[in-house]
Amino acid sequence: MLDKVVIANRGEIALRILRACHTLGIKTVAVHSTVDRNLKHVGMADESICIGPAPGTDSYLNIPAIISAAEVSDAVAIHPGYGFLSENADFAERVEKSGFIFIGPRSETIRMMGDKVTAIQAMKDAGVPTVPGSGGPLGDDPEENQRIAERIGYPVIIKAAGGGGGRGMRVVHTEMALMNAIATTRQEAGAAFGDSTVYMEKFLQNPRHIEIQVMADEHGNAVHFGERDCSMQRRHQKVVEEAPAPGITPKQRAEIGAVCVEACKRIGYRGAGTFEFLYEDGEFYFIEMNTRIQVEHPVTERITQMDLVQAQLLVAAGEPLPWKQEDIQFNGHAIECRINAEHPLTFMPSPGKIEHFHSPGGPGVRVDTHLYAGYSVPPHYDSMVGKLIVHGETREMAIARMRLALSELVIDGITTNIPLHQRIMTDPGFVQGGMNIHYLEERLKAYIEENS
Ligand code: ADP
Repeated sequence: MLDKVVIANRGEIALRILRACHTLGIKTVAVHSTVDRNLKHVGMADESICIGPAPGTDSYLNIPAIISAAEVSDAVAIHPGYGFLSENADFAERVEKSGFIFIGPRSETIRMMGDKVTAIQAMKDAGVPTVPGSGGPLGDDPEENQRIAERIGYPVIIKAAGGGGGRGMRVVHTEMALMNAIATTRQEAGAAFGDSTVYMEKFLQNPRHIEIQVMADEHGNAVHFGERDCSMQRRHQKVVEEAPAPGITPKQRAEIGAVCVEACKRIGYRGAGTFEFLYEDGEFYFIEMNTRIQVEHPVTERITQMDLVQAQLLVAAGEPLPWKQEDIQFNGHAIECRINAEHPLTFMPSPGKIEHFHSPGGPGVRVDTHLYAGYSVPPHYDSMVGKLIVHGETREMAIARMRLALSELVIDGITTNIPLHQRIMTDPGFVQGGMNIHYLEERLKAYIEENS
């Protein structure tokens, strides 16, 4: 097993990684910025090292500082969590060249998946269904681009090859708007991602976002853990996730899961990963692969009774996967609400000191958070401060438990989106299940109009 791991992240995921390490007897090193000395996992880690000032670019994105921390602490591996450097191929390469284990896929895999054009091509070659599209980068010939759009059929979406976090996308409804949209997206992509490559896809009008969790080892084994439905989104950001996806049959799950497992084997994938699909009219369309553990992994853990972060550590240590596909059974239903320090209607971030904190409990309730009374949420990072996860025998029971858990959760001193989650849990469309990716924004628009 690994002896000592550097946790190159902060907040709830750093705590989650620490817990997985300590339950396996692995020592931990917390690296943190100057404003993060009071993070829960920093106090719990075997060692802690300050790696720089508050801004992420100076600390959690500071590659030399993180590698130095691994050197001085005699660690053997680095876990990047999600966000920050987790999908940075240069970082993974530097980690491995410095003699440490990167807890994730090989750097070449990250590089290939980080460029959506090469990722889509690789997936197509591996037999994964993709969205009808340009099948490669768009050139500068307007007529050629018009022909591509006509072949695909309007509306189309122009996307940045290097895009992420829901940015770098533009929907085009008519030929007239096409040239301008390509030029603007190209420009924005160059400025935001340092890569002005763009491509074109059919814009699916009413899809759901359904993704498949996979795990692969270095010995050619791969398994899938079924799907998650992450259609409840605002500005392409997930708000609520659940597993299984309402209405997906065991046959569909087994089929798309097998396609993903096969693709993992083809590309020599290693570690945890997620195949993201848009799902419309009974068909799956691959949009991208995330080469890391995701925020929403707990809903899968709840329905499969498995610890995915522990599995990441086992695979990184070179061990074979402890499970065969038939060992992965699905039980009941799980839902996750992302708790953000933000205004529930304006979505303005709301950092500050937590005056009172009370965690919900009872059967089927899990709280993943680094919050505690007296802790101050700094303004420098993502506004997500925790995740509330519930499990029930049925989706109905999971919703009932989530309503109760939300009413028990007390976070005083800052504003949070708990009221938004309470509305979602009683919303007729959500309760029915299977809504598309636009549903939440439509409901929000109506609600904001009513209340202003
Ligand atoms: P990112 O890496 O920025 O998250 P994705 O490619 O995963 O980008 O797309 C994010 C979201 O954008 C999707 O969940 C979906 O809501 C929307 N989207 C992306 N591609 C399409 C498409 N072809 N048709 C409709 N919606 C899309």
